[in-house]
Amino acid sequence: MSASWKTVALDVHRRLTTPWRAWMRHWLLGQRRMPIILLFYHRVADREPVPWSLTNRQFAAHVDWLEKHFEMISLEEAQRRIIAGENCRPAVHVTFDDGYAENCDAALPMLIERGIACTYFVTLENVLTGRPFAHDAQVGKRFPVNTIGQLRQLSARGVEIGAHTRTHPDLGQIAEPRRLIDEVVTARRELEDNLAAPVRYFAFPFGMPRNLNGAVVRLARAAGLKAVCSAYGGYNFPGGDGFHLQRCHGDPELPRLKNALTLDPRQVARRPVKAASPPSLEEKMFELLSQETGPLAEADSQPEETDDALATLSPIETP
Ligand SMILES: [Zn+2]
Repeated sequence: MSASWKTVALDVHRRLTTPWRAWMRHWLLGQRRMPIILLFYHRVADREPVPWSLTNRQFAAHVDWLEKHFEMISLEEAQRRIIAGENCRPAVHVTFDDGYAENCDAALPMLIERGIACTYFVTLENVLTGRPFAHDAQVGKRFPVNTIGQLRQLSARGVEIGAHTRTHPDLGQIAEPRRLIDEVVTARRELEDNLAAPVRYFAFPFGMPRNLNGAVVRLARAAGLKAVCSAYGGYNFPGGDGFHLQRCHGDPELPRLKNALTLDPRQVARRPVKAASPPSLEEKMFELLSQETGPLAEADSQPEETDDALATLSPIETP
């Protein structure tokens, strides 16, 4: 389907579902169960566009629209409302993945200036070495990576720095316990040491259902991380899973973003995917972990993830 036909189809879909959306909004507000939407972005820059980038003008248009229609909250507050089971207003939190230096040119200063909280997930090896991301190299690009100095400055100005592994692997394909511990636990600790600040949240690279790993979810919880984030779409309903937080793509095309964030029935139907892993892997992993660090107490206050099938919408795949 060409882009223009997709736009027409989306417009038809939005118009046909407008009465349902209005009714659903009214009902959810009455129930104090408005979903909380977490957005993810990667790179905001005006040169050399790639599918995972927006221009500064596009990003500013997003933020203008979001500020007008949503309460902009922190990830901690988002999680608090999900766990508390109550949210009375449409609310959004903004996140970024990977660690692109160009985000410091205008996008992040704008968020900081407007007092908008954001969480910034970075891949440790790239920010320590300055080596460009592999997914950029695959399309012939070498975009600059944030330095630890930049991340410290962002942290000092209130940006929540999160962990995004050491090497940005597909964690859904890794069944080697030592590697998982290194990518999730050790890399997070090294990031904390470099920042001289706590790192409380983790985002799966790629973040589609097949890139998740149940052993990592358990490991993150045991290591004291507050939440893990996926990236295949879906809203976070109050009373839902407060540890696996779902994120929606900050689609560069504003009409698509507006459609996705205004109670699109397809997003409403989507529920957290249960991240599975072989029990033998988890046993081995925790055995190794306790040898290295001593037993870790697992916070077990969150409900299990639900196992609903994915809705029919095909999310855009990003790094
Ligand atoms: Zn990534």
